[in-house]
Amino acid sequence: MNVYTLKGVVPDYFQAGYVLVDKGSALCVDCAFDPSVLRALLKEQNATLHGFLLTHCHFDHVWNADVLPREFGVKLYASPLTQALLDDGSWLGNVDKEFHVDETLQDGQKLNLGGFEIEVIATPGHTADGLCFLVDGQYLFTGDTVLPPYVGRTDLPTGDEIALKASCQKLWRLPDDTVIYPGHVYRFDDQPKLVKPRHTVGREKVTNVINKR
Ligand SMILES: [Zn+2]
Repeated sequence: MNVYTLKGVVPDYFQAGYVLVDKGSALCVDCAFDPSVLRALLKEQNATLHGFLLTHCHFDHVWNADVLPREFGVKLYASPLTQALLDDGSWLGNVDKEFHVDETLQDGQKLNLGGFEIEVIATPGHTADGLCFLVDGQYLFTGDTVLPPYVGRTDLPTGDEIALKASCQKLWRLPDDTVIYPGHVYRFDDQPKLVKPRHTVGREKVTNVINKR
């Protein structure tokens, strides 16, 4: 499996969406991609897209979720709590947009999309609807729950420091060599980039700042 990172379209937020590509199948984590950049990557990789997995409701992760799933003919998957947070303004976007979550994912749920084996891990704390996705038992997409060596902020609507700590403890029980792909990357090209594994559960459970709180 190759993992590409694509910068989200919201300026200055360094949001990292991911495109997973394996054997002609692709899957997106988060939904703030520039449609033309995503389309070009899929064409270059000769890959068919199978869905968008949303880590949480915030604007920098969800920005193009009103158009991308329809445009690519696939579903938007998110927590059962996400739709209400998008509707009540907790997504923090300052424009009028209408989002529609097509399918909700429960904690512990396992699903296969286009050959990718996904395990859903509910990780409230940064927001109530936070989800992490463990793909093929080895690759963990953490959204803003874990941003090595930090965690996401908890002072925004539905943020909860105690819940975040419990969510991290849950993640630290995964195998040490589980690779973490966080929802923000602070060095970026404008073009899709093949990501080298840099962060692991083994390191975060020792060094992450949440362990000292
Ligand atoms: Zn966030």
